[in-house]
Amino acid sequence: MRRISVFGATGSVGESTFDLIRRAGGAQTYHTVALTGGHNIARLAEMARELRAEIAITAHEAHLPDLRALLAGSGIEAAAGAEAIAEAAARPADWVMSAIVGAAGLVPGLCALRQGTTLALANKESLVTAGPLMMQTAELHGARILPVDSEHSAIFQSLMAEDMTRVDRIILTASGGALRDWPLEALQNATVKDALNHPNWSMGPRITIDSASMFNKAMEVIEARELFGVRPDQIEVIIHPESIIHSMVGFCDGGIIAHMGVPDMRHPIGFALNWPERAPLPVARLDLAKLARMSFAEPDMARYPALRLAREAMAARGLAGAAFNAAKEIALDCFIGGTLGFAQMSDLVEASLAAVCTEFGPSDAVSGLDDVLAMDELTRGRSRDLAAKMAGNPVGAGL
Ligand code: NDP
Ligand code: MG
Repeated sequence: MRRISVFGATGSVGESTFDLIRRAGGAQTYHTVALTGGHNIARLAEMARELRAEIAITAHEAHLPDLRALLAGSGIEAAAGAEAIAEAAARPADWVMSAIVGAAGLVPGLCALRQGTTLALANKESLVTAGPLMMQTAELHGARILPVDSEHSAIFQSLMAEDMTRVDRIILTASGGALRDWPLEALQNATVKDALNHPNWSMGPRITIDSASMFNKAMEVIEARELFGVRPDQIEVIIHPESIIHSMVGFCDGGIIAHMGVPDMRHPIGFALNWPERAPLPVARLDLAKLARMSFAEPDMARYPALRLAREAMAARGLAGAAFNAAKEIALDCFIGGTLGFAQMSDLVEASLAAVCTEFGPSDAVSGLDDVLAMDELTRGRSRDLAAKMAGNPVGAGL
């Protein structure tokens, strides 16, 4: 029986993964090794009981007694904390879903790769933070990374049976998020509720806000560079409000292969679950005549500083990706917490990158985990200090 684990099972990607596993027969078809969650232990315990998992782990030690109580009599082990999650990722499994949100997904992802598994990777933060380390670890241990981000799954599928040396460019599509049609000057007043109102995709709250600020696409540019080994100048971003083309690959002969479908994460998740086969998925079929038209537009760089900042982080190389992700996570925390305005998130990331990257020159060496984690922590500290200074300052006034 195929052994599987789902990290971040209680989240948006986790729930879609669970839905597909259940439809494919659940415990009759798969042996579930580990399921992890955070605060939602009731749902975690429910999933673990249904899939008869070996172990269920919450990220939070304080929830352990309650998780134990919820699993009493089931024979399922309960554990808590980041270390327990990393240990569970090292338990042998044939397929592991990495769907924890944020840099907390990095260590479990690396532990899973070290056991040579197939890692279905939704957690883009681990590639932004430590892409070269992730790719090198996969290679060293004969593991495989299958992209789950819809754009990268689309690119992966467009590249099947293609020669990478014949690739000219990768074109990432972006919906533009919840605030796409807002006047530029109104963005500074956007609330969390406004930014959460995504037109096409149903996702967790953090990535939904990142879609509105375009930090999500900025991270996806870095993710594409790491996954497919192309140069930054080969990666383009285009606004495509309908979210029907999930991304495209342009080849040296001028041809473009585009991957299309309705916006439903169960497609890329299911593709990764069934890979290398294709299997039927419960995804609505695209009705092109009903859709009638698709539109495209160049992203306005003044509106989306995140795209420029990602390019600067890629040019800086070394640990700049770790700094970029950490600063972005703090900026998002501050926006959600009400201490920074929507448009101030990019100001904070820019100031944080300037503060930390000057201390570390560019480097092409693959940074080890300790260096990456040190940079993550250093940047979070600097970003918090800078955010405290910025709080209350008008947008664009800098520090
Ligand atoms: P959610 O916020 O919906 O879920 C996050 C999951 O991680 C939950 O299980 C949550 O537990 C758990 N979690 C939160 N914090 C921690 C922590 N510190 N340590 C361990 N576990 C934690 O996120 P999404 O499902 O939207 O996104 C997951 C990842 O997939 C992200 O990296 C995102 O960028 C990426 N992704 C998501 C897409 C989507 O459609 N949602 C599309 C493409 C990529 P709990 O809820 O129980 O607290
Ligand atoms: Mg995406």
